Amino acid sequence: MLNIILFGPPGAGKGTQSERLIDKYGLIHLSTGDIFRANIKGETELGVLAKNYMDKGQLVPDAVTIKMLRSEVEKQENPKGFIFDGFPRTNAQAAALDELLKNLQTSISVMLALEVEENELKVRLKKRAEVSGRADDANPEVIENRIRVYNQETSPVKNYYQEQNKFIGINGLGSIDEITERLFSAINKI
Ligand code: AMP
Repeated sequence: MLNIILFGPPGAGKGTQSERLIDKYGLIHLSTGDIFRANIKGETELGVLAKNYMDKGQLVPDAVTIKMLRSEVEKQENPKGFIFDGFPRTNAQAAALDELLKNLQTSISVMLALEVEENELKVRLKKRAEVSGRADDANPEVIENRIRVYNQETSPVKNYYQEQNKFIGINGLGSIDEITERLFSAINKI
């Protein structure tokens, strides 16, 4: 199985690039943010809980996020592989993901981290707010908080994969096609 973590700060292009990767490699795309948003739309219990955190730009608690991700992974029949987008965001989530994949007799192949500097992220998120309809894109204070949470809690997850020699940084600046090519070429070298 090919199991990819597409990593990076908010606005780095994880969602856009995930679409390209699933098309090419036939992977299952699991975006925890998308799943939470679908639950908010469906007014489920999980959605009501997650919304409190998402609207403030905070992380949904690990226990809730891990349980949700586990059930999404386990419901797939004979997957060719996964692309994890927006997960793991903490070391506890990374450890839980390893455990979960071990039970399926597989493991993470690589973490591909899209690298984009902070000012560019803010420009992109502001632009995205005009089309995404996402409350957390529209509020500059929430954007600041999401970037702060990324730097403090999520960025250290890189070390977890660096220690396993599974980390590859990808320049996230340039056209969408250029970045896709960089990702393809990194994957082809695995
Ligand atoms: P995203 O669509 O990846 O930008 O995620 C939007 C929001 O959903 C985040 O700001 C968090 O509030 C929540 N979220 C998404 N993924 C996770 C995760 N792995 N752990 C905790 N919260 C998450």
